[in-house]
Amino acid sequence: MQRLSIPFFTLMLVCHAAAAELPDGYWPAERSQPILDSRLKVTLDPDLGHLSPAELRAVDELLAAGRIMHALYEQQLHEEAAAAKQRLDNFHETAAAPDATRNLLDLYYLFKGPVATTLENERLPFLPVGAPNPGKNVYASGLARREIDAYLEANPAARKSILAERTVVRRASAESIAGDLSRLDEFAAVEAMHHGLRERLEALDADPATLYAVPYALAYAPQLAEARQHLERAAGAIEDESPDFAAYLRNRGRDLLTGDYESGDAAWVTGRFGNLNLQFGSYESYDDSLLGIKAFYSASVLARDEAKSRALAAAMTELQSIEDALPYEQQKRVRSHIPVGVYNVVADFGQARGANTATILPNDADHARKYGRIVLIRNNILANPAIFENSKQRFDAAVAPAFRGHLTIDGSFNRTLWHEIGHYLGASVTADGRSLGEALAEYADLVEEMKSDLVSLHAAPTLLEIGYYDAAGLRAHYADGIRRTLQVVRPRPEQPYQNMQLMQFNFFMEHGLIELHGDAALLAIDYARYHEVVSELLGEVLNLQYAGDYEMAKAFVERWNYWDDRVHGRLAALMREQARYRGTMVRYAILEN
Ligand SMILES: [Zn+2]
Repeated sequence: MQRLSIPFFTLMLVCHAAAAELPDGYWPAERSQPILDSRLKVTLDPDLGHLSPAELRAVDELLAAGRIMHALYEQQLHEEAAAAKQRLDNFHETAAAPDATRNLLDLYYLFKGPVATTLENERLPFLPVGAPNPGKNVYASGLARREIDAYLEANPAARKSILAERTVVRRASAESIAGDLSRLDEFAAVEAMHHGLRERLEALDADPATLYAVPYALAYAPQLAEARQHLERAAGAIEDESPDFAAYLRNRGRDLLTGDYESGDAAWVTGRFGNLNLQFGSYESYDDSLLGIKAFYSASVLARDEAKSRALAAAMTELQSIEDALPYEQQKRVRSHIPVGVYNVVADFGQARGANTATILPNDADHARKYGRIVLIRNNILANPAIFENSKQRFDAAVAPAFRGHLTIDGSFNRTLWHEIGHYLGASVTADGRSLGEALAEYADLVEEMKSDLVSLHAAPTLLEIGYYDAAGLRAHYADGIRRTLQVVRPRPEQPYQNMQLMQFNFFMEHGLIELHGDAALLAIDYARYHEVVSELLGEVLNLQYAGDYEMAKAFVERWNYWDDRVHGRLAALMREQARYRGTMVRYAILEN
């Protein structure tokens, strides 16, 4: 009997194994593992010992509000995100194919939804969901740019709402109109803040050719109401100790109802806070590959590093002379007080989650003009030894032996810091008073980021003159400027940062700041030519922004954005071989405990 039972038992195992396989559309471990292996795993766990009991209570509420922002962000990215995640969680709980499902959960965490970026820099779903829309889930599914353009041409009155930063664009189906109206019934506060919205919705006829926009405040009303309560509670915890921070939290909570962030932005940029700071709401439009205008939700809970923030404030006193030295004619008075601080990231949510090294907000040109912009340097990313080591390996793989070791943590810290301050310098509007976004459209972000990179490099010699740097400090800043331009894969057209870095690389090559050196054809840096070449490119960029000439920007990008497999491709392959990681996967100890 025993002999008979063995094959039977084996058969059971086989059946069980077959049932345990994931259905079609779920990536097997062979596909997920290489992507996960390519990521450096970092868990941020900053010391919060200097926070007061009230601040710690506020942190709990801010984290709760952040989790809501994260879920909203995933919903904004892909309409099937929540359902796909639920199915995946169910598979994981049944313990079917545990390794494969564990990997898919990690991919979902890493990419904030069911679409991965592959090692070939392609965007592909790893769960059985529809292909991602370029406009993600803040436009009606499948909506193309030419249909929007044609619709706006025929219906100019809809332009303002459809092109607004914080609206969802829908097709007018009976179901969508009814859904919006019933949500408006449910959230009286939203209706009170959006004059004429009900009339506009009620006037719509159900016709799929009709496009209309609803404010995020209405589209996401239930989640935003919940987030606002957490902000209120955090404000209550902190109001005696840090009234400016409490006021900011309350203003930002109201901003979620209105969709107009002016009051929160003003309170954020000009207030004096204690040990905490918070980025909260929808700001960045990088995820909108359709029109590049819709803002996506994010939150960052930050704890101030007082010593580093003070050291920084001292270096900022020379700002006007750095502006005056810029290679263009229209110098401006720089604000004497720029709210810049050094923080450790406690946790990030939504669009802000990841290894970005600094934040400068708001983007809104009018708010920036009236109140300035806040600069948040993210110290525990920027000065993270493991992240630095990986970028050093990449740099060392691409440069000739004589240049290895020129990169330092401080150099990278300072280059990034002055990049952020660079956003404060140069032209903030065009000669005829238009905003840069309006004038340069889809090139605006790319050009603005390039300007800030170049302002940082241009400021470096001044920092040496005023004693902020010694010679090694200057060299490290410069080396990081080259490191910044190196690409491990060819950028996709919709990646403004990577493309503007590639353009700098090409300009630097053609102007002899960098060249391929020796038999190994590795990069050599001519530090003596550095300032001259940077000044030339910066001069071009500043004048382009000031002129606000779209065609000029287009020609500039077309001139410098190119990729040659024999040069860029070969260096990229070297860096991929010698640096262990292609990117970083950041987790937060405080969310895992
Ligand atoms: Zn920037």
